[in-house]
Amino acid sequence: MRCPFCRVDNDRVIDSRSIDDGANIRRRRECLSCRRRFTTYERVERQALSVVKKGGVREPFDRDKIRSGLAIACGKRPITEQDIEALVSAIESECYDNYESEVPSRAIGERVMELLRGVDQVAYVRFASVYREFKDARDFVDELEPILASDRAAARMVVGGAAMMAPGAAGPANAGDRAAEAAIEPRGR
Ligand SMILES: [Zn+2]
Repeated sequence: MRCPFCRVDNDRVIDSRSIDDGANIRRRRECLSCRRRFTTYERVERQALSVVKKGGVREPFDRDKIRSGLAIACGKRPITEQDIEALVSAIESECYDNYESEVPSRAIGERVMELLRGVDQVAYVRFASVYREFKDARDFVDELEPILASDRAAARMVVGGAAMMAPGAAGPANAGDRAAEAAIEPRGR
């Protein structure tokens, strides 16, 4: 496997493990040239599945496309490469299990959103805003509203709790503010 850092094709496998119930094998490798480590995944090749896009255009199912869409949405969020890989594998398995030879791109997009929503709300909103191609601010607000409502409730709880514990004290109050900021972060994005 060619090293993603120095491009030299000379590595050794330092760890192999089965993941996703044995559907994939994850190998940790060390480049013998630059000594940096990287990860590869191995999986069974299945019968070709086509994705039917809006307008009827078909293209081969491509897990890398799903992965890159997820990676953009998850940028700078607390989501690891393995988390993303697990999401891609889950979606891929569902597509192959539920569709014979063609899957609508819409079904994939909706499923990505569903799974992402349970993982990280900021990543979810980012993905949704691109995928749903929000036509105007109203659509965007409709999508955000349930998330913001629950975050506002969480922020109130945090701020209220800090105030009760230490009225007027700078330390805990600041901590509460920071927590509140973190909780309402989706509004900034
Ligand atoms: Zn290297």
